[in-house]
Amino acid sequence: MPEVISPGPIPGPPLFLDFLEGKADFGCTAWGIPSYSVFGWQRPCYLMSDGYAKTYRELVETTDWARYGRGRDPRCANCMAHCGYEPTAVLATMGSLKQSLRALSGA
Ligand code: SF4
Repeated sequence: MPEVISPGPIPGPPLFLDFLEGKADFGCTAWGIPSYSVFGWQRPCYLMSDGYAKTYRELVETTDWARYGRGRDPRCANCMAHCGYEPTAVLATMGSLKQSLRALSGA
């Protein structure tokens, strides 16, 4: 039987881990961890390519972010990727004293 090697703790805010475990639900914030390559800023994230923007400002201001995320675009249906949902968890953490203290404590 092959040995299972644990990668160890998953880094990130506790709320993102809650999301991965199905204990919290968030919308996608793909502009929070954008992807940049020789083609430019990929829209809306590195998992999908609906075009490129020349600058981060152009990406943020000309992308219809309301079109993306689970329940909005069929391509996003089963997505739980960090590039879309970890920024949401970070913003939720920063907006909550309780969650900020939880993140600081590492609990
Ligand atoms: S839900 Fe996933 S695939 Fe869809 S835009 Fe967000 S990060 Fe990209």
